[in-house]
Amino acid sequence: MLQQPFGAITVSLLMVLVTSGAAQVDQPGVQLSTDEIEAIANRVRAGRSLQPERWPNGARVAVLLSFDVDNDTILLARSTNPSIGAMSQGEYGARVGLQRVVDLIDRHSIPASFFIPAVSLILQPDMVDVIQQSGRHEFGVHGWIHELNTELDADTERELVGRATDYLENVTGRRPVGYRAPSWNFSPNTLRILRGFGFLYDSSLMADDRPYELLQNGEATGIVELPVEWILDDAPLLNPRGTSYTSPRDLLQVYIDEFDQAYEEGTMFLLTTHPHIIGHRSRILILEELISHIQSVGNVWFATHEQVARYVLEQAR
Ligand SMILES: [Zn+2]
Repeated sequence: MLQQPFGAITVSLLMVLVTSGAAQVDQPGVQLSTDEIEAIANRVRAGRSLQPERWPNGARVAVLLSFDVDNDTILLARSTNPSIGAMSQGEYGARVGLQRVVDLIDRHSIPASFFIPAVSLILQPDMVDVIQQSGRHEFGVHGWIHELNTELDADTERELVGRATDYLENVTGRRPVGYRAPSWNFSPNTLRILRGFGFLYDSSLMADDRPYELLQNGEATGIVELPVEWILDDAPLLNPRGTSYTSPRDLLQVYIDEFDQAYEEGTMFLLTTHPHIIGHRSRILILEELISHIQSVGNVWFATHEQVARYVLEQAR
C-alpha cells in the first residue's frame, strides 16, 4: 500500500518525459513557422498543368507504357554478397521477360519507354538490340545500379546520373532525355541535378494523373513531370512473397478501371511494369488483355514518354 503513491508518481513522470520527447524528436514539423513549412514543401512541387486541350489526331487519351528493366540491379546496389536465388529471379527479366514484353508490344506496333539502370545493360548487353529492333522505343535513365538517391550526397548522385546517361548514349546511339528515379523518389538534390543535365522530363512523382511542370522553390523549371503511381505499377502487388499480393487477373481490372476513367476524362494513362515481374506466363497475359481492351475502345494515342513530353510542352507555349 505504501508503495502505490510513489509508483503512480513515477509513471506520471515517465509519461511526461515520453510525451515531451516524442514532440521534439519524432514530429519536428510542429515546431516550425508557416514560412518554414512552406519552404520545405516548395523544394519540389507541382506547377502548372500541362494537360493539352487535345491530343494528336483527335485521340481521346494518351497511353504511355513504360518498362523498368531493373532485373537484378536492386540487389547488386544493396549488397556485395546478394542472394544468388533472388538474383536469378531478376535475371529472368533479361533472359525471358524482356523478350516476351517486346514481342507483345511490337506485334501491336505500340511504342514504349524503357527505363534501364546502366548496370542492367552491362550485365546483359543484348537487351539493347531486343529493344531497338522495331526502332519505335525510347531508352530513359533509371540510375547507374538502381541506387537509392535519397541516401547519397549531391556529388555522388550527380556523378552516377551523368555516368548512367553517358553509358546509355554510348550503347544506344542516342542521348536519353528522360529520367525515372530508381526509387521513385527525389533526394533534396535530384531536381537541381536533372536541371543541370538538361533533362526534358521526369517520370517519378505522383501529384496528378495529368502531365505537369515541376517547380523548384517556387520557380518554374521547364521540366515536364509525367506522373506515376504505385496503383499503376506491377511490383508491389504481384510479389508472391510480399505483404499485399494481388492475383494478376484482379490487377488487370484495376488497370482497366484506371484506363476507362482516363478515357472519360480525356487525360493520360501511364502504366509501369517490370520485365522480370510482368514477363512471367501468368502475368504477360494481363498486359495482352489490357492492350486488347484499350484497342477495342480505340481512339487513343500510344506514345513514348518523350513524344508526350515534347507534345505537351509545345501545346503549352
Ligand atoms: Zn526500378
